[in-house]
Amino acid sequence: MASTVYFVSLRAENEHSTVLGRLKTCARKLLEGKLSSGDLVAVKLHFGERGNHGFIRPVFVRAVVEVVRELGGKPFLTDTNTLYTGFRHNAFDHLETALFHGFGYPAVPAPLVIADGLRGKDHREVEVNLRHFRKVPIASAIQEADFLLVMTHVKGHIEAGLGGAIKNVGMGCASRVGKQMQHGGTFLPEIRKEKCIGCRRCILHCPQGALFLDEHRKAGVRPELCIGCAECLLFCPTGAIDAAFSAKSELLQERMVEHAFGALKEKGEKVAFLNFLLDISPDCDCAPWHDASIVPDIGILGSSDIVAIDQASADLINKAWGLENSKLGKTLPPGEDKLSAVHPTALWQRQIDYAAEIGLGSKAYVLEEV
Ligand code: SF4
Ligand code: SF4
Repeated sequence: MASTVYFVSLRAENEHSTVLGRLKTCARKLLEGKLSSGDLVAVKLHFGERGNHGFIRPVFVRAVVEVVRELGGKPFLTDTNTLYTGFRHNAFDHLETALFHGFGYPAVPAPLVIADGLRGKDHREVEVNLRHFRKVPIASAIQEADFLLVMTHVKGHIEAGLGGAIKNVGMGCASRVGKQMQHGGTFLPEIRKEKCIGCRRCILHCPQGALFLDEHRKAGVRPELCIGCAECLLFCPTGAIDAAFSAKSELLQERMVEHAFGALKEKGEKVAFLNFLLDISPDCDCAPWHDASIVPDIGILGSSDIVAIDQASADLINKAWGLENSKLGKTLPPGEDKLSAVHPTALWQRQIDYAAEIGLGSKAYVLEEV
């Protein structure tokens, strides 16, 4: 059966039909009847790495938080710590980064909680009994919340192809151990020595100390330490790290989906998803930069079905014109797969197919304009 996916257009001609107003209407449609007064509502976000500006604007988060409060919920803004060494690696740095990006009380009236604690170790094991895992570790504050409201900036992703709601929940609600479980053995960097300029960026960002500079000042890998997180690939400025022969994106995507299954398992009806198809960059907001959009801004989607909303997001991106002044490098017509064009080793459809296979939702959807 087809699921409803609400669509909030970005068109607005006067103050009586603002995008913010229609976003609030969409949020009410998703929350009314499901959110109970007194519910602790985890508003799952990505606060953006320092240097990135593609994350969801606080003004949108405020609008949604206001609806949660109207309905008697107790919202808190949340995310988990990163594996890689950046500005969201522990709760102290993560909270400062969130405030730096405008997610403080003056802009959004909801407290900040880093869901997996000070160092990313606070989690609850959830039994899933699926193909890859029997149990998955889900960040405590997300697991203990009464309601999970997922707000996702949709974009490409270097290892998963698509960074949508499934990725935001699967990777983003897992503790550090869960992130390692998803990445393990999915990627081993291959260094093209002729392209390496010895800048050490990969070494600085590797969470495992698995990279070094050799006697010729070229990067080398200690395979026994590598957990396959692919952060080195993201940070290398010269393309010296080759993903073509070593990435196992399908495996990563399936593991991610099993973590999403764990995060949603005990929530039942108490979930809602909002996907923001704005500033659709080729890479995720973990990058300390934000690249030009690969397609024009599209709108905001809302659904209770995590599979339907991601399928609709990918379809809308691929139905749009691809922009030449982006990582695509040329104009691509509607119908061509822009996500696969920017990450040809990470074919995004697997996460959606597998999520549908294990019963997380439906790939069939009906778009309903709000
Ligand atoms: S993929 Fe391996 S070498 Fe690269 S950053 Fe991750 S752990 Fe380090
Ligand atoms: S980031 Fe790239 S260029 Fe810099 S040292 Fe690592 S592999 Fe070499």
